[in-house]
Amino acid sequence: MNVLAGLRPTYSEHRAQEEEAPVPEAGASVLNARNGSAAAGPPQTGRRRDSRLLSTPAFAAAGKGPLGLYIHIPFCARKCPYCDFNTYARLEPLYEACTQALCRDLGRWAARLDGRTVDTVFLGGGTPTVLSSGQLRRILERVHDRFELAVNVEISSEANPGIEDRGQFALLRSLGVNRLSMGVQSFQAEELDFLGRIHDAEDVLRAYDAATEAGFDNINLDFMFGLPRQSLEAWNNSLDKALDLAPRHLSLYSLIVEPDTPLAHWVETGRTPAPDDDLAAEMYEAAMSRLREAGYEQYEVSNWARGAGFACRHNLLYWRNQEWVGIGPGAHSHLRFPTRLRRESTNGLPFLFGDSSDRVTGSGAPAAAVRWSNVKGVQGYVRRVEADESPVSFHEELPAGVSMGETMMLGLRLVREGVPFARFEAMHGQPMRAAFGPSLDRLHDGGLLESDGERVRLTPKGLLVGNRVFSEFVA
Ligand code: SF4
Repeated sequence: MNVLAGLRPTYSEHRAQEEEAPVPEAGASVLNARNGSAAAGPPQTGRRRDSRLLSTPAFAAAGKGPLGLYIHIPFCARKCPYCDFNTYARLEPLYEACTQALCRDLGRWAARLDGRTVDTVFLGGGTPTVLSSGQLRRILERVHDRFELAVNVEISSEANPGIEDRGQFALLRSLGVNRLSMGVQSFQAEELDFLGRIHDAEDVLRAYDAATEAGFDNINLDFMFGLPRQSLEAWNNSLDKALDLAPRHLSLYSLIVEPDTPLAHWVETGRTPAPDDDLAAEMYEAAMSRLREAGYEQYEVSNWARGAGFACRHNLLYWRNQEWVGIGPGAHSHLRFPTRLRRESTNGLPFLFGDSSDRVTGSGAPAAAVRWSNVKGVQGYVRRVEADESPVSFHEELPAGVSMGETMMLGLRLVREGVPFARFEAMHGQPMRAAFGPSLDRLHDGGLLESDGERVRLTPKGLLVGNRVFSEFVA
């Protein structure tokens, strides 16, 4: 029995917000060969291509709530065999060109978002710290120079142990990065070996020490469970070591065998047994109980924080279905506009990608949510940005029902916060009950949802059958 029934957090779900829909990019097949599989994530209702510049007037009209900026560094020292993220090894020759393109794209987006304050910045990947100090410095200085950042801006960077990190961490800290997220995954040598990680347990301790020495007090450690041949004892041992470090934040993800990865091939050919779902569920429940005892609050299905203010504010934007702009190859974006958007030009180009004849008009309908993603290939992204073309390869304006359903599905992942009624109404222009009354009643009667009058959230029973709950909100 898989007691988690689809709700158990997966590493891919975590990253789905940051990955691109599987639109193959012409001419980039070599670079994209390992990244053609579908990323998990919200349903998509259509996709279009265009290479025109995004039109500035439209973005100036976007919403005024919290805004995140995601910057994708698509490089790693080595590609892990389970990973289907848009990241590549052995592309050192493209680091500089990609850095230049990222800086240029950041500058263009700063102009489009003029007047909006950025609340969170997330440098993700990939492994941002594989870039040189000079490259990291240029990217972060561009952010500081061109964007209006909130006084209390959260700036996170991902990092992986095993990369020369002491100098990089000090540099990141000096450039305003105030949250570090490290991909540890395990403290067991054989598990790290199976996962193809470049680090060992000693490297983790060294990296953690380097991060604290550099002044980071907000550190997240990522771990994976449900690995083939992983025992509950080994998992508990990794948790022991993680808790010994007492980081402010822990993210625990279940390994999922993603199609078209080396791991999928190993499982198909019998070289590796498939993950045991029941055992993974036991590991998840053991972690929930142990972290609670250690003083961590589970604020999301796969995320725990110790102390007020240490939940990841950038990821909260995703779960609250708010707004962010993604920069870099394969990065996703999601903005809400104050009125429904209507295409004014007649040249057949899709909205957001047209020329200056595109205008924003109000139709009286509720706010429109629009999302898009960039081409995945590094060379394609660089080529388009350098040619002053849009790197966007896919976009869609979400129907109101889809956007409301996503607010529910994402928000219900927030274990305590759930989905506040007032926020839902402010976001979608109608009460939650008007949109989903019968579903809410059904789930409440079944003991899967509860409400304190201000919000709706999963019950402990609902937490274990998340897919059943979420399916009620799919348009
Ligand atoms: S380090 Fe992370 S992003 Fe890079 S290949 Fe491994 S799992 Fe993927």
